[in-house]
Amino acid sequence: MSRYIATRAIRGANALVTEAEIMLERALKEKGPDTPVAFPNTAYYMPTILGMTGASVEKLGQLSGALEHARKLLHPMPSEKHWTPYLGETLDSGMATLLAAETIEAVRFVYGLQPEPMTGFKQAGGTAFTSPENGEKAEETDALTGHLNGPIDDIRLRSWGIQLVDGRMPGFAAIVGAAKSNAVAVKIVRELQKRNILTFLSGNVNGRSIIHQLQEEGVELGYDTYTVPFGTDTISAIYALGFATRSALTFGGLKPGMSREILLYNKDRVFAFVLALGEVDDLKYAAAAGAINFGFPVIADTVIPEILPTGVTTYEHVVSMPFDAIEGKDDLEKAERLVQKCIEVRGVKVKVSNVDVPVPYGSAFEGEVVRKADLRVEFGGKHSRAFEFLHMAKLEEVTDGKIEVVGPDFSKVEAQGHMDLGIVIKVAGRQMQPDFEPVLERQVHYFVNGASGIQHVGQRDIAWIRVSNAAADKGFNVEHFGKILHARFHEDFGAIVDKVQVTIVTDPAQHAEWLEKARAAYDFRNKRLADLTDDKVEEFYSCTLCQSFAPNHVCVVSPERLGLCGAYNWLDCKASFSINPTGPNQPIKLGKLIDDRKGYWSGTNEYAAMGSHGVVQEVSMYSIMENPMTACGCFECIVMLIPEANGVMVLSREDTAMTPAGMTFSTLAGIAGGGLQTPGVMGVGKFYLISPKFISAEGGLKRVVWMSSVLKESMAEEFKAACAREGDPDLLGKIADEKSASTVEELLAWLEAHNHPAMAMEPMF
Ligand code: SF4
Ligand code: ZN
Repeated sequence: MSRYIATRAIRGANALVTEAEIMLERALKEKGPDTPVAFPNTAYYMPTILGMTGASVEKLGQLSGALEHARKLLHPMPSEKHWTPYLGETLDSGMATLLAAETIEAVRFVYGLQPEPMTGFKQAGGTAFTSPENGEKAEETDALTGHLNGPIDDIRLRSWGIQLVDGRMPGFAAIVGAAKSNAVAVKIVRELQKRNILTFLSGNVNGRSIIHQLQEEGVELGYDTYTVPFGTDTISAIYALGFATRSALTFGGLKPGMSREILLYNKDRVFAFVLALGEVDDLKYAAAAGAINFGFPVIADTVIPEILPTGVTTYEHVVSMPFDAIEGKDDLEKAERLVQKCIEVRGVKVKVSNVDVPVPYGSAFEGEVVRKADLRVEFGGKHSRAFEFLHMAKLEEVTDGKIEVVGPDFSKVEAQGHMDLGIVIKVAGRQMQPDFEPVLERQVHYFVNGASGIQHVGQRDIAWIRVSNAAADKGFNVEHFGKILHARFHEDFGAIVDKVQVTIVTDPAQHAEWLEKARAAYDFRNKRLADLTDDKVEEFYSCTLCQSFAPNHVCVVSPERLGLCGAYNWLDCKASFSINPTGPNQPIKLGKLIDDRKGYWSGTNEYAAMGSHGVVQEVSMYSIMENPMTACGCFECIVMLIPEANGVMVLSREDTAMTPAGMTFSTLAGIAGGGLQTPGVMGVGKFYLISPKFISAEGGLKRVVWMSSVLKESMAEEFKAACAREGDPDLLGKIADEKSASTVEELLAWLEAHNHPAMAMEPMF
C-alpha cells in the first residue's frame, strides 16, 4: 500500500474541495441560493451527489450540503508515524473529490459555462437511419453544433446501461490525459472500439488532451461511435462516474443515498476502468481514488506506485505500466498491449468478431455516418439501386465461404460516385426454414454497418451503402461485404446456418435479373400473410431491433400491421423468436381487449410502456390521431395529417418532391422519427397501407388524400384490390400525388374536382 498515493490523493482532494467551496460561495453571493441548478437531459439531478448522499439538488443553496459531506471525508496528510497500510483515507479522499467535482460542474452550468467549445464533434446520437437527403442535411447542422458532451443523456443511459448490464457491451474505459502521440491515441481508441468498450475522454497533460489528438486525426467522436469526449479538464471525468451511479439507480433498482450498494453494484456489474495517460498530478490521483471507490481500477502508462492487493476492486487497484517498458515492437503494438492489460486487470469479458476485412470491425462502428466529404462511393440512395437478398438452398448447392464478385468493382467509379450493387446470399443448414429468410436478410444491415467507414441504411431493394475514402484507402472492396456476412452469419446464427455463400452483383444485366428475383421473393413474403388477421391470433410480436439507435422505439407487429421498415411482418417475428428466444422479437400476449376500433389491448399497452422505458404509456394499433405507434427512422412511408383536407398524405421514402405539408421527406423524417408519439404523424411499412386495419379508427384508406406516385404505380394492383374492398373501386384515381398537388390549395382543388370521399367524412379531430 502506497503512502505516496494516499498523500497525493489527499492533497488533491483537499485542494479541490476548497476550490469548490470558493466557487460555490461566490456563486451563492452573485446568483443567490434559490438559483436552479441542473444538468441538461437528465432527471437524476446531480447524479453522483444524488446516489452517494441521497440529496436531490435543484437549487444552488443545496450544493452546500454536498460540500459539507465532502469536507468531512477529508484527511490530514499521512505522516510516517501514523500510517497504516489501509486504503480508507485514499478512498475517502476520492469520494470527496467526486462530490466537489460535481459541485464545480453544477456551478459552471449555472454560469452557462458549457464545457469548453470545440468544433467538428457531433453530440447527439440521432438516428442512423436517414434518407439520403436527410443524411446530407445532417452534415450542415453537425458543423454548427460543435461542443463537448457534458453528461450522457438519460435516453442514451438506458440503451447503453442495459447493454453494460446484460453484457452486450463489455465495459467502459474512462481515459484521462493525453497519449504519447496522436497515433497511439488513435490506436488505443480503435482497440477499445473493436471490443465494443464504451470510451469516455477527459483531462489533459500540459494543456494537451487525448480529445485534441483524436480530433486532429479525424476520429469521429460522439455517441454513435461509443467515444464520448466529456471535456479537456480532469474534473469533467465526473460524468463517467455520474453515468455509473445512474446505471446502478436505473438498472440495479437502487435508491438514492444507498452509496455502499451503488458502489458494490458497479464493482460487480459494470466493468469499467480508468486509463491515465501521461503524467499524473494530485487532482488525477484524487479522481482516480474516486474511481477506485466504484471498483474501477486505474492503469497508468507512466511510473506510479502500484496498489496491488485486491479488496475494493476485483483485481488490482492501481497498476503502473510505463509505456517505454511495455514490450512490443513499436508504439502501436505497445498501445495494443496497454489496452489488453486494462482488460485483464478489470476482468472485462470481450468477444471479438473474427471478420477478415482491412478496416476495424465491431458494433461500436454501427452508428457511424459517412459524410459526403468522406465518401468514396455509394450504392443505392438517390442515384443508383442497391438490394440485398437472402435465400436458402440445399446443403449440396452451397459452397461455404465462397465469395464471388460478378461485374466490376468500384475502382473505375469517380470519387463520390455511385454504382448499382446486389448482395445475394445463399444459405443452407439442417435447421434452416424458408420462414427464416427475411429474418436473416434483415441482419445484413447490422453486419455490414459493423465495419468502420461503411454506412448501411435501409433494407431489401432500398438499401443504401456508403464506403468512405478511409475504408477504400485501406483496401476495402465489395468482396469484403461477402467476408463480413459469411463470418457473422456463422457467428450469430450458427445454430441454423451451416453454409453461407455470397455473390456480389454489379454487372448490369445480372443485377437486373437478380433484382427481379429478389422482388418476387419480397412480394411472396408480403403476401404469405394474406389470410392471417389480427383477430385470429392471441399474440402480437414486439420488435426492438432499432433500439440500438432509437432507444425507446418499439414496433408492435400484428398480422395486419407489419413493422414500419417493411422487412418484419408477424411471421418473421415469430420465426425470429423461435431462432432467438431472448432476442428482439418477443411475443406480446394480447390479454384483455380494451377497444377493438382503435386497437387497444391490455397486453399491447403494457408492452409498449415497458419496451419504451415508460416514454409511451399506451399505443393504439389502428389510429393515427390517438397514441399512434412511434417510429425509429427506417419507415418506408410517412403518413401525416393534412388538417385542411380532412385526410392524410402518404409519402414514400423514394419520393423527394415537395408535399402539400410544405416539407419534403427528409424534413418530415426528422419529425416522424426518434421514438416519440406524435398524433397525426406516423411512420409505416408500405404494406400496412393496403391492410384493412390501416388507420381504420379514422376511416381507413378513404382518408388518404395524397400519395407519392411511386407508391400508386408500384403497388397499383394491391391498391386496386384494397379500394374495392373499401367500397370505392375508383378511390386510387381520386388521390392526388406530387404531380397534381404540391400545396394545400392545389390539393383542395383536386379533391373538390375528383369528389374525394374524405371531404364528406366526419372531422378527423
Ligand atoms: Fe424491427 Fe421496427 Fe426496426 Fe423494422 S423498424 S427492424 S420492425 S424495430
Ligand atoms: Zn427502425
